[in-house]
Amino acid sequence: MKSILIKGGTLVTMDSRDAIVRGDLLIRDGRITSLGETAQTADIVIDAVGCAVIPGFIQSHIHLCQTLFRGAADDRLLLDWLKKRVWPMEAAHTAASVKASARLGVAELIKGGTTCALTMETVNHTEEVFKVVEDSGFRATVGKCMMDKGDEVPSALHEETETSIKESLALLETWHGKAEGRIRYCFAPRFALSCTRELLARVAQLARERHVLVHTHASENRNECALVESETGLRNVAYLDSLGLSGRHVVLAHCVHLDAAELETLAKTRTNVAHCPSSNLKLGSGIAEIASMLDQGVSVSLGADGAACNNRLDMFTEMRSMALLQKSLHGPDVIPAKQALRLATIGGARALGLEKQIGSLEAGKQADVAVVNLRSLHSSPYQDPVSALVYSAQTSDVQSVVIDGQVVMKDRELLTMDERAVIEDASRAGTELINRAGIRV
Ligand SMILES: [Zn+2]
Repeated sequence: MKSILIKGGTLVTMDSRDAIVRGDLLIRDGRITSLGETAQTADIVIDAVGCAVIPGFIQSHIHLCQTLFRGAADDRLLLDWLKKRVWPMEAAHTAASVKASARLGVAELIKGGTTCALTMETVNHTEEVFKVVEDSGFRATVGKCMMDKGDEVPSALHEETETSIKESLALLETWHGKAEGRIRYCFAPRFALSCTRELLARVAQLARERHVLVHTHASENRNECALVESETGLRNVAYLDSLGLSGRHVVLAHCVHLDAAELETLAKTRTNVAHCPSSNLKLGSGIAEIASMLDQGVSVSLGADGAACNNRLDMFTEMRSMALLQKSLHGPDVIPAKQALRLATIGGARALGLEKQIGSLEAGKQADVAVVNLRSLHSSPYQDPVSALVYSAQTSDVQSVVIDGQVVMKDRELLTMDERAVIEDASRAGTELINRAGIRV
C-alpha cells in the first residue's frame, strides 16, 4: 500500500484535546503515522498549503438507492412523499438502477468530503450497493430495508417476515467485514409503521447476537407518531425500546417529536440519534431538539438522508443548518462551531461504533481524511479554521480525499470512478426508473 504525505496544512484533529496542529500528515499502510512533524517524502504527496486537513465526514443517515429520485419527490409531507413517490420508485428499481443510484450517491459524498456513511437501502438489490462501496473505496455500513407490513406498500416491496430476515442474514454473512473491514452490515427495518412487532423483536435479538447495528427511522413526523401510538399504545421511542431496539448499537434517524420520557430513554440507553436538519425542513417535519439532547448526553450525529428529500448529500449544509436552527431556538451561543464539527466527524464514528478506528486524526487510526481549501472567496479571511469549515466552507472546497489509506479524490478528480460516466448513467437510469414507476413529475 502506498504511503501518502499531506503536506503543509492546518490539521484539525478532532481528538479529545481538539488539537489544531500545523504541518504534515503522514499515512503508511492505511493508517495515520504522524501529525505535525515535517516528513520528507512519500509515494504520493498532496499539497495542503492554505487547506484544513480534517477527519472525513461521517454521515449516519443516508439512502444511496434514493439518489436517482432527486427532484422527483419535492414539496410533499412525509407519508404522502413515501406512498406516492418514494415507494413506487423504490419498487421500480432494477439491479442496474440501484447500481447507478449508489454510484451517483457515493461520488457526490466523496466529492463533498464524506468518507463514511450509514445507509439504508431498499428491499431489493442491496448487493449492488455493497459492490459499489467495495469498488469505489468508500467506507459504509449498509442495510437492506425491511418492510413486512403497511398501507399502500407496493407488492415489490412487501416482504414476508421470514424472507426479510433470511435475506438480511444472507447479506450479513456475505458482506459484513469485507474489504478489510471497510464494509459492514446493519439491520435496517424501515420504521415502526412498516414493520410487524415480530420483525422488530427478531431484529433486536439478532443484532445483539451478531454484534451489528440497527438503523431505522423514528418520530420524524407528527402523523407518523400519532399512528404508531394508536397502533401500539406507546410513544414511538418507547415502543422501540420495549422491543429491545435501543442501545449503543441502535441508530434512530430524525427523533423530531419526542416527549421528555423518550429523551430520557435515549440518554439512558445511549441510543444514537441521526439528525437530518435539511430533510426535516424540506418535508416540513419540524426541528429536532438537538441542544436539549446534547445537554442530556444523547449521542447525536448528522446525515443528509436521501436525495429524495434534501436534495443534496452535503455535510457542510447539514452542519451549518443544524447549528443555525439550534441558535434560532436557543440563542447564538448554543452549538459552537467546534461542537458542530464534532457531530459531523467523531460523533458519526461513535454512532457507527467506529470511534476507535476513524472520526479523528490520531496516530494509529485508519486514514480517512479530507483536505479542504480555506483560501476561497467565501472563506477568506479566516481566523479560526473550525469556524471557516462550519460556517463558510462548501463541498466544492474539498480538494482531496483519502479513505482507508487510498486516495479516492485528488485535486477534485475522482480516482476510483469516472465522474462523467456516473452522471450519464444516473441520468439515463433515473429517467427510465421514473417511467417504470409511472410517476409524472
Ligand atoms: Zn431516511
